[in-house]
Amino acid sequence: MKIGFIGLGNMGGPMAANLAKEGHEVMGFDMADVQIDGVQMAGSGAEAATGADVVITMLPNGQILRSVAEDLVPVMTKGATLVDCSTVDVDSARAVAQQCADAGLQFVDAPVSGGIGGAAAGTLTFMAGGSQGAFDAAKPLFDIMGQKAVHCGDAGAGQAAKICNNMILGITMIGTCEAFALADKLGLDRQKMFDVVSTSSGYSWSMNAYCPAPGVGPQSPADNDYKPGFASELMLKDLRLSQQAADSVDADTPMGALAQALYAVFVEDEDGKGKDFSAMLPRFEKSSRH
Ligand code: NAD
Repeated sequence: MKIGFIGLGNMGGPMAANLAKEGHEVMGFDMADVQIDGVQMAGSGAEAATGADVVITMLPNGQILRSVAEDLVPVMTKGATLVDCSTVDVDSARAVAQQCADAGLQFVDAPVSGGIGGAAAGTLTFMAGGSQGAFDAAKPLFDIMGQKAVHCGDAGAGQAAKICNNMILGITMIGTCEAFALADKLGLDRQKMFDVVSTSSGYSWSMNAYCPAPGVGPQSPADNDYKPGFASELMLKDLRLSQQAADSVDADTPMGALAQALYAVFVEDEDGKGKDFSAMLPRFEKSSRH
């Protein structure tokens, strides 16, 4: 397959490399000067998209996606598929889907879970929104870059699933961190706390797979001085997207709102920027109730 790949950063770079490794002809473009194994670099997004069967975008936000789509859509071959894997707002995903439909192109919003480790290993989870035909066109590529792809519904449904998932993640990480800080003050050993909670009703991915306490549970960013991983500012971005979406449909999400407010303070006022989102634990260690 001929593939255009726009946005070859921490996630897009290894994803494109995995497609090239499987024998696909990948032409890439990034604003930054990057080189990716097996990927031929183009001088512009439009050049990378011209003649491609599938064009994949992996960009920082919805505004950038909309502006890049302005360049890609006019040059793409009719019937080709645009697959956006970035995490963006539902409105931007739906706007680009409409633009594609008007131009005779297929569109899938397909944000991912699994982080840079999953991108490199080809074990991402894709949550996809779009028509069955668009999903089917992208599925062989999802199977190379990931281990699971769920067709969630029409355009925007993939982004909806992503921001709901990450709202849960932000809330459970904060809950796990504040519980560890409480346990410390109650004199409970952290390993004992993990042994109990990881097999009791308080368990979650945040506790069991990504434990925020150093030296406890499987290897995680906590064991590497909270180097991301998944940076706090990216969690804040996703929580903001979930609250923006909640506002737009009048959904009551008080815990999501609180999680957003806490990550905003952590990132903007407390030196949390550039640290993994599990660094909420040392933050709670330092803070007190009064
Ligand atoms: P990144 O900043 O490493 O990569 C983004 C790339 O896009 C950069 O290389 C940048 O130069 C390029 N870019 C920006 N504007 C461009 C333009 N107009 N034309 C061409 N290239 C442009 O970010 P990332 O970590 O790869 O994340 C990408 C997306 O994936 C984000 O939406 C993020 O929320 C999402 N995501 C990230 C992770 C993670 O763990 N890093 C996990 C899941 C989802």
